[in-house]
Amino acid sequence: MLRELHLRLPLPQADSRDARLRAAARELHLPLHRIRGLRLLKQSIDARQRVICKQLHCLVAVDEPLPPPPPLPTAPPPLPAGSPRILIIGAGPAGLFAALRCIELGTCPVILERGKDVSSRRFDLRPINCEGVVPPDSNYCFGEGGAGAFSDGKLYTRATKRGDVSQIYRYFVAHGADPSILTDSHPHIGSDKLPRIIQSIRRSILNAGGEIHFNTRVCSLLRSADRRRAVGAISADGREWLAESVILATGHSARDIYRMLAAEGLLMERKTFAVGVRIEHPQALIDAAQYHLKRGQIRPDFLPAARYSLATTIRDRGVHSFCMCPGGFIVPTATEGDEVVVNGMSLSRRNSPFANSGFVVTVTPEDTDDLAPEFGALSGIAWQKRLEQACARAGGGGMKAPAQRVSDFLAHRASDSLRKSNYRPGLTPFDLRELLPRGICERMDEALRLFERNIPGFTGEDGLLIGTETRTSSPVRIPRDSDSLQHPQLAGLFPCAEGAGYAGGIISAAMDGRLCAEAAVNSKKL
Ligand SMILES: Cc1cc2nc3c(=O)[nH]c(=O)nc-3n(C[C@H](O)[C@H](O)[C@H](O)COP(=O)(O)OP(=O)(O)OC[C@H]3O[C@@H](n4cnc5c(N)ncnc54)[C@H](O)[C@@H]3O)c2cc1C
Repeated sequence: MLRELHLRLPLPQADSRDARLRAAARELHLPLHRIRGLRLLKQSIDARQRVICKQLHCLVAVDEPLPPPPPLPTAPPPLPAGSPRILIIGAGPAGLFAALRCIELGTCPVILERGKDVSSRRFDLRPINCEGVVPPDSNYCFGEGGAGAFSDGKLYTRATKRGDVSQIYRYFVAHGADPSILTDSHPHIGSDKLPRIIQSIRRSILNAGGEIHFNTRVCSLLRSADRRRAVGAISADGREWLAESVILATGHSARDIYRMLAAEGLLMERKTFAVGVRIEHPQALIDAAQYHLKRGQIRPDFLPAARYSLATTIRDRGVHSFCMCPGGFIVPTATEGDEVVVNGMSLSRRNSPFANSGFVVTVTPEDTDDLAPEFGALSGIAWQKRLEQACARAGGGGMKAPAQRVSDFLAHRASDSLRKSNYRPGLTPFDLRELLPRGICERMDEALRLFERNIPGFTGEDGLLIGTETRTSSPVRIPRDSDSLQHPQLAGLFPCAEGAGYAGGIISAAMDGRLCAEAAVNSKKL
């Protein structure tokens, strides 16, 4: 007999196999010898009370052995010569997972990626951090692995309606990720491990006969003679790439792609996004609050760096923490040299002394109305860009970011000095109320005071606000038919994932990549 059980055990015993088996036997009122096996399905830390526990969702085998676990995906067989070709623009999570799915369905993916392979790309991060120089096609957003390559690698998503999330986790494990991501309720990989996994996915694609072309920036689409179907793309070096269909998975920072689509006369829509700052605290402050540590007590080794997720609504606008990175780093994620944009990443051990998170407020299309006459559907992008440029001026150049202590922000004064942060280009004291729109600052102010109740010290002088976090999601949606997933005005064009407004984060982008691949393969041309 197989039974699913929810067990709650205090740490660190919860990590002991014996303790779990005994707890299962107790829960089922059975002698221990009848429990033949126990498999963890999901686990999470419950720190709501003083005794910190793990919640364990387990499959328990009574009087019979456990069935084998769901298999990991195996390497796809090589594609037959002459397989139909699907062009995939962008090698972020969406593009890579679209390519894997194309191969499984017997079509040959041809990925065009503006940036470098993930190993070479690393060397371009140094000039960004140390000299404030942003290589336009190779940075924290562009290059193999996309924006997810040098990130926290959080794999948590709420987008479960789009498909089987665990299937995506199994692909990551098959390509070298730690199997614990299959059972952690908030799995993460870390920037030190992600590049090797991305390389392994690349090998699977190439070994099966797919193609990946780096340093190949797409600058226009190729259309059929009647201009009603996308049949390929042209790259900046003038090469033409013909295919049966085109999956556009260029992410939310490829502003040249939105401009290209606008110039082609293709419909795009404005959408809601969110803008604010990164907020950084000593990790010890977050640990103390989340794990109820006594003054001066250090987090025990068996507990991971604590995380938080905070959200409220103030005058009809969401204000929330975003992409929180326990034990992480704040990084400069601009894609052009005249802007400052910040985001967060971390290593697998999440062992930096700081915790950071986006702290953002909803921005609606109406907020960017004044720019609509000039920029149309791209008014949100123009609005973002203005803020990013103002942020660069406030920082004083070299990717330095304007920053303020939380306590000073609440007191309406610029900070005289700032504590050490791990944002490498450096910080410039600045009153962020002079930078961000009033409606955003007022809501941030009210939300901070509320969040202080959840995390004592959140608004103290050890908290830093660092400007600005503008690229939370795309301010533009590229429409697509809900069944065929093709652009309503251009058959054969599949707007995909975050850049098209259908995903937010690594996992949902990967799932949307797979969906677009299935739609492209099933489209009538193939
Ligand atoms: C620093 C940082 C940390 C993050 N942390 C997390 C996290 O922990 N967890 C999480 O879920 N999400 C995180 N994100 C967000 C996540 O990375 C994105 O949601 C995800 O990568 C989106 O996937 P995508 O494939 O849609 O687009 P992208 O990842 O943006 O990939 C788009 C790709 O298209 C390429 N491209 C763009 N234009 C062209 C062109 N004209 N021609 C050819 N190629 C082009 C780009 O170079 C890029 O490789 C983070 C993002 C950043 C920047």
